[in-house]
Formats: sequence, structure tokens, C-alpha cells
Amino acid sequence: MARHDIITLPDKRLRLVSEPVKRIDAGIRKLVEDMFETMYAAPGIGLAGIQIGVAKRVVVMDLSKKDDEHKPLVLINPEITWSSQEQASYEEGCLSIPDYYEEVERPERVKVRYLDLDGKAHEIEAGGLFATCVQHEIDHTNGVLFIDHISRLKRDRVTKKFIKAAKTADKTTSKTTDKTAKKVEA
Ligand code: ZN
Repeated sequence: MARHDIITLPDKRLRLVSEPVKRIDAGIRKLVEDMFETMYAAPGIGLAGIQIGVAKRVVVMDLSKKDDEHKPLVLINPEITWSSQEQASYEEGCLSIPDYYEEVERPERVKVRYLDLDGKAHEIEAGGLFATCVQHEIDHTNGVLFIDHISRLKRDRVTKKFIKAAKTADKTTSKTTDKTAKKVEA
């Protein structure tokens, strides 16, 4: 297994629409392993392929609590087939937009169709945190970020902040890590 760097704003690859997986081969299985390792190390509760620069419709998630047993979930070519009228709001964050959190309103429940690692098709209904996280990740496969769901003013502000930070980072290699944040970081 190998841990990868997570790409962050303003990297343009985050806006790519990922390609569907045609065959679940050894390459895809390796990608999934690497994604889990990267996500657990971050730490985060969800990760899409593009976040490590691979534009394939592959999502990994694990919503288990900190000290509980891992509950890894792999979704290949996931798509939302139904969304509830009712909306729910969660404070979201994103491993590709570090240290930024904002309330996002999304459908409270969704149905998702996907393939597992054996190529078997599933359709599940998700609610609560699971619904929010799976929508956040499927957005990534379509080049959409959670900041697209907030006001333009806030989006412009955070985007500018990251562009500026990227310019400064060219001059210094120092990096801050904040492990205190425990929110929907995906
Ligand atoms: Zn994200």
C-alpha cells in the first residue's frame, strides 16, 4: 500500500469529471487500498479518486467512530438515483480544502447505486451523516466541491485565500497541521 498526497485548492484537477471504471482489475484494487491508507492517515471519513489525482469514479468511505472497528466502504461508479425533498444541514469540511468548514444544506436522504470491488451492483438508501458524506464524495467525481453549495461571497473568499496560500507556499515549505478539527472532513 502507499499513501498519496491529497491535492488541494486551487489545483484545477479537482474540477475534472472522473471517468467511469470499466473493469475492476488489480489496478483498481491497488487504487482502493491506497485511497484507504491515504484517507485513514489524513484522517478523513471519505475520499474520491481525484483527490489523489486519479480521475476515476472510485470513492472510499468509513464513518466508524474513532476507537471503533473500521467499517470500510468502497463505491465504484456511484450514482444518486433518488433524493428526498427534505433537506438537512451539516458542517462540512474537505481534505482538499484544509481547515475550512461551512454549513451545507443537502437532501436528507438519497438512494445510491454503485458496484462493490467484486463488481456486484448494489442500491442503498442513506440518511444522516452517511447521506451527506456520500453526496459530498459523488460531487468530487463530478468536479464539484462543497464550497459550490455555499454563497458566492464565501466561496470567493475561501478560493482567494487558497490561491494566496499556494503562492506563499512556493516560498516556504512550512506546513501546519491541525488535528483538533473533528467534523465531516471528506
Ligand atoms: Zn471533499
